[in-house]
Amino acid sequence: MTAPSKSGRPHLKLLIAAPRGFCAGVDRAIVIVERAIEKYGAPVYVRHEIVHNKYVVDNLRAKGAIFVEELDQVPDGVPVVFSAHGVPKAVPAKAEERGLDYLDATCPLVSKVHRQAERQVEAGRHILFIGHRGHPEVIGTFGQVDAGHMTLIETVEDAERFTPADPDNLAFLTQTTLSVDDTAAIVATLQRRFPAVHAPKGEDICYATSNRQSAVKAIASACEAVYVIGAPNSSNSVRLVEVAEREGTPARLIQRADEIDFDWLRDVRTLGLTAGASAPEILVREVIDQLRTQFEVDEEEVETARENIAFKLPRGLEPA
Ligand code: SF4
Repeated sequence: MTAPSKSGRPHLKLLIAAPRGFCAGVDRAIVIVERAIEKYGAPVYVRHEIVHNKYVVDNLRAKGAIFVEELDQVPDGVPVVFSAHGVPKAVPAKAEERGLDYLDATCPLVSKVHRQAERQVEAGRHILFIGHRGHPEVIGTFGQVDAGHMTLIETVEDAERFTPADPDNLAFLTQTTLSVDDTAAIVATLQRRFPAVHAPKGEDICYATSNRQSAVKAIASACEAVYVIGAPNSSNSVRLVEVAEREGTPARLIQRADEIDFDWLRDVRTLGLTAGASAPEILVREVIDQLRTQFEVDEEEVETARENIAFKLPRGLEPA
């Protein structure tokens, strides 16, 4: 523990990364569910966790949302919202077939990748999709094109091993929430092996993911430990832990203040704090308040970028 203050609690310097927490896509997805409940009345079904955060999901559940994993679990005649991660084309097609009212909360930056996938296949290219197996965004993007047109590349080793039928007709795309550094290494491998590989227009890794990674990188080396607020199934939150660790700083993911491990902080004088794109600011404040029960906390926000992005709501849900 550090030297005690007048209050008897040890000092803790807290470097808080900015930007952190909610991105424009998460904000929009949550508003879509709230407006859908206002418009149609409860319950409104939501296919998959609207965003990967238990606090957000529990709050929406209390307002009248029912979360399910598959469309088959949605009864006839009730509206359904698709999560921010995106869905395979077969899902809205099935909803239409059943006559369900559906609202698509897919982040527009994920939809942009979906359209690129379609265009690459139309151009006769095989897509190498850089992403994490089993993540809903990856399942959704694979479901934009017919089977066989896309291969998942998770690692540099996968990029080294891949044997294409036609090396001159390849394109790569990426999940939006990857590690910027890991992805650059995979892309470099693909470009070395297949110089003609078609790159996406602009970055697929979204602004929120790269800004949050730069922000945590900026504080990590000045800290002895870093807490990232986020869920274990939140890809961008897990990447923030990895980025901090790569700077040589121990980092942990926590979902709520009650997961703070004060033993782990015993010799820490400077702690870094950030939050993944699906974690609300209220959880950051909750963590800081909990730290104050044991430490004399001196907060400093370290801002590496400003964000002013907002996405339009689907037609019919705009404010009156
Ligand atoms: S993390 Fe990026 S892609 Fe995902 S919802 Fe937020 S802005 Fe959209």
